[in-house]
Amino acid sequence: MEKWDSNEGTSAFHVPEWMQIQFADQKQEFNKRPTKIGRRSLSRSISQSSTDSYSSAASYTDSSDDETSPRDKQQKNSKGSGDFCVKNIKQAEFGRREIEIAEQEMPALMALRKRAQGEKPLAGAKIVGCTHITAQTAVLMETLGALGAQCRWAACNIYSTLNEVAAALAESGFPVFAWKGESEDDFWWCIDRCVNVEGWQPNMILDDGGDLTHWIYKKYPNMFKKIKGIVEESVTGVHRLYQLSKAGKLCVPAMNVNDSVTKQKFDNLYCCRESILDGLKRTTDMMFGGKQVVVCGYGEVGKGCCAALKAMGSIVYVTEIDPICALQACMDGFRLVKLNEVIRQVDIVITCTGNKNVVTREHLDRMKNSCIVCNMGHSNTEIDVTYQSISQCDFLVLKFYGIFLAQLYFCLGKWLKQSMLSSPLRAALIELQHCQASLRTPELTWERVRSQVDHVIWPDGKRIVLLAEGRLLNLSCSTVPTFVLSITATTQALALIELYNAPEGRYKQDVYLLPKKMDEYVASLHLPTFDAHLTELTDEQAKYLGLNKNGPFKPNYYRY
Ligand code: NAD
Repeated sequence: MEKWDSNEGTSAFHVPEWMQIQFADQKQEFNKRPTKIGRRSLSRSISQSSTDSYSSAASYTDSSDDETSPRDKQQKNSKGSGDFCVKNIKQAEFGRREIEIAEQEMPALMALRKRAQGEKPLAGAKIVGCTHITAQTAVLMETLGALGAQCRWAACNIYSTLNEVAAALAESGFPVFAWKGESEDDFWWCIDRCVNVEGWQPNMILDDGGDLTHWIYKKYPNMFKKIKGIVEESVTGVHRLYQLSKAGKLCVPAMNVNDSVTKQKFDNLYCCRESILDGLKRTTDMMFGGKQVVVCGYGEVGKGCCAALKAMGSIVYVTEIDPICALQACMDGFRLVKLNEVIRQVDIVITCTGNKNVVTREHLDRMKNSCIVCNMGHSNTEIDVTYQSISQCDFLVLKFYGIFLAQLYFCLGKWLKQSMLSSPLRAALIELQHCQASLRTPELTWERVRSQVDHVIWPDGKRIVLLAEGRLLNLSCSTVPTFVLSITATTQALALIELYNAPEGRYKQDVYLLPKKMDEYVASLHLPTFDAHLTELTDEQAKYLGLNKNGPFKPNYYRY
């Protein structure tokens, strides 16, 4: 049996033979397959990612069809187990179909399952997971099961669970604690039910957002004695792990899968290239040809959006603060402008900067009638939309000086601003002014014309079309392609295998990136879908380049 770990040194990850890049046969293999709201009971609120609105595949059932809380129901699956809590176990058959559809676009996980037949690299692993519960997650969980792991799972987002998929998982014996529309209290209760079990203690954590990790740190710190590692997917969760590590409080190794190259490329560039058109089309039915669009930010997400819109015949302008990305935009044939220069003429404004207040009320005032405004970048901060943004402003001022001072500031104007106030206070007051000048003001009328589509109407009759209230357009209004999620899920699975099998001492109590060789392996597992034929290095070529024929093929500093 192949060993899953290697003693080749701490940095050189040894990919077992069956994990090495395959060049032939794989396509055929796949062709053959059958076809927050609520009580705040904790000192720390759930993460942003746990409440961000998220829409995934169509759901067969509306969560409002049965008002009884799943916590108050006694349900059992067909084998008599009641170790789960889902909306309605009877929906399992629908969920199973969704899972089968997802399997078609998740070739790498199916390949892992197939190759793991006979050997179980996760035998003995007890994985507690907290992710979106979708058909794609189900494919991951069932793969982890096939690799030998026992899993218990909760949702990382109170809105994103597909109830029928959760039911299908419960029916096939996975202890799943999740339903769409959990309260915040439910959210933590579900996590606790996964962790706090008699006779079962997790030894691996798979987290998305850091809430599960936080819960174990807070409630069951002793569990970390048996935990071999944490795999974290989200930006927020990874950030928290780095903070813990910096403070010397991280007590197990953690793998940052968010920043692995394949995941980054697929999530940011390719996913956005596809989903920007889908999100705009579903919400507005618009035609893209000939439309003038300004895309703010020419990073990975911006590049994806620009490429898609250009291909549809739109006239695309780009704004950037970084001269390198700006030059890239120019070389790719886009006009680099300041937002102010085109704001009156464009039909669509798209933000992709990861920044805040990129589109301000001043910009919104100047837009033409029917201009569409949406965000593909960070959370809901890029477009200055509502009073809610007050909670996101750095508002020490609210604590210490209050709105009274802010009003005073507005009255006394520039003189006060320049002469009397200390600069942090001044900055905070300017920010408060900014928040107050957002779209939720009495003179503007909001009309909800479709789900996730608002017309904001100015007193003179001008309307702008605001999508998803400035939250992420693709997550709120379209679907994320399963193939993209396949990359992430495969990366997660391999990270779990690596941490679980790593010999003592390979990983310390720190945050690691997935070894490049495994990143390459994730990509290679997806190539057969395209009947792609990878060239093999000859011995002579490998020697000339100083590479191992099986990779890694690039140094860590290489930018793809
Ligand atoms: P990135 O850092 O590669 O690109 C952001 C770009 O915006 C940078 O080039 C930066 O110079 C530029 N920028 C910053 N402030 C600006 C401003 N005021 N005006 C103009 N340009 C400005 O990041 P990325 O990978 O493109 O991701 C961007 C955001 O999108 C992040 O917040 C990320 O979390 C999010 N994201 C969204 C999705 C999605 O599905 N919608 C997927 C991945 C990432």
